[in-house]
Formats: sequence, structure tokens, C-alpha cells
Amino acid sequence: SDHHLDYPVSPAHMDWSKNFPKHFAPKDGEVVEGAVAVDSGKKVEFADIGCGYGGLLVALSTVFPETLMLGMEIRVKVEEYVNQKILALRNNHPGSYDNVSILRMNAMKFLPNFFEKHQLSKMFFLFPDPHFKKRKHKARIITPTLLSEYAYVLRPGGIIYTISDVKDLHLWMVKHLDAHPLFARIPDEELVDDPAVEHVRNATEEGQKVERNKGDKYLACYRRITDED
Ligand code: SAM
Repeated sequence: SDHHLDYPVSPAHMDWSKNFPKHFAPKDGEVVEGAVAVDSGKKVEFADIGCGYGGLLVALSTVFPETLMLGMEIRVKVEEYVNQKILALRNNHPGSYDNVSILRMNAMKFLPNFFEKHQLSKMFFLFPDPHFKKRKHKARIITPTLLSEYAYVLRPGGIIYTISDVKDLHLWMVKHLDAHPLFARIPDEELVDDPAVEHVRNATEEGQKVERNKGDKYLACYRRITDED
């Protein structure tokens, strides 16, 4: 259950200094150890939804060192583990990994409380929970309603990455993304130049488990298209 989770009333109310102390000054006279006094001016641009043990964030941190990226994870223990992992990486590699962090939250709720309209350039949905039973399909992380929310926080030209080893779930995500007016599938031949894609396939703990078990990986990426012209 997530009823005791805290959400900012709007993105402007969010104090990011605990997550990214090298990029955000604490709000409202709070004291956060090691935090800068003045914001760097950056905002979170990548969101890894249901990030699990954080393998993607760690891999992308050095590929996109100028980009702030956030994992969102609902499990307390997993969030704590990833947080410790990131703090250890920052300690062992001073000047690196200041651009990655994790937040415990239910990503199916209140996303627009954390991110402004068009703030994000990439959203990752990697090996999401399949919820096999038909009556549980509404619990899936890709639904028509949630896609409209993702389109709101994602900027035109931004990309949604999905991957699954469960073909039924892959087909479900493709069906709903194809049907949504604000998303267009990116052809596979265009994806070969995208440096994020190899990490989408191989950097997460779930992706590595599928690899060990010689399972299939079904990738589908969509561009958020513009609705303003
Ligand atoms: N993406 C990771 C990977 O590839 O290794 C983790 C995949 S795991 C199968 C799915 C993750 O999504 C779990 O860690 C689960 O706790 C998390 N999750 C499920 N529903 C969520 C929600 N509503 N908000 C945030 N995280 C969620």
C-alpha cells in the first residue's frame, strides 16, 4: 500500500536537494549535507519507471553525464538498496554519479506532481510487471489513461522505451501506444544510433536475468509527437 507516501502539491514544491545535492539547493531553510547553495538550473530529464535495482541508471549516468535521471520504485527495501548503491558510487568516484537518484513512489499516481509539462526527454519501462491475469490488466503500467499522463510530462520529440520478455505484455504495450494519438513508433533501423538502447536491453538486473535464461527480449520505442501545430 502507498497511502503514506508523500507527494509535492506541484513540481515547484518538490525539494530535489536530497536526491541531487550537487544540483539543487535545499528549499525553505532546510539543511542538506553537501548540498549546493544555488541551483545548477538543471531538471530531471530521464525517468526510469519501476527501476528495480537501478542497473539502467548506473549505466546511463556516465553515458549522459550532463543529464539528471531519476528511478522511481515502489518497494521500500529496493529503494533503500539503490540509494545506498548510488551514495557508494558517488563516494568512490568523486564528481561522478551526481546526476542519478531514486525516489520511492507509486509511478502510476501523481507523476504530474513531480514533473512539469514536457519536462522529460526519456521515459523507461523496462521489464515491467506482467500482471498476467486478465482481471489484473488494468494494473499494468501502460494503459490509455496513463499514456496521456506520460505524454503530458514528456516533451515533443521525447522517447518512451519499453522492453519485455513477456510477449503478451509487449503486444499489450504496442497496442496501446499505437492507438494513442501522441505517440509514434520508432523504426528499429533508427534505434541502432541510439546510445541508450543497448543499456535498455542489457543493463538492468531483470534484463540480465532474461539473458542468463536465454529468454526473448521484445523492444518497442515510441516518439512523443507534437500536438501544438
Ligand atoms: N526495470 C527493472 C529491471 O529491468 O530490472 C525492474 C523490473 S521489475 C520486474 C518491476 C519493478 O517495478 C519492480 O521493482 C516493482 O517494485 C516496480 N513497480 C511496480 N509497480 C510500480 C509502481 N506503480 N510504481 C513504481 N514502481 C513499481
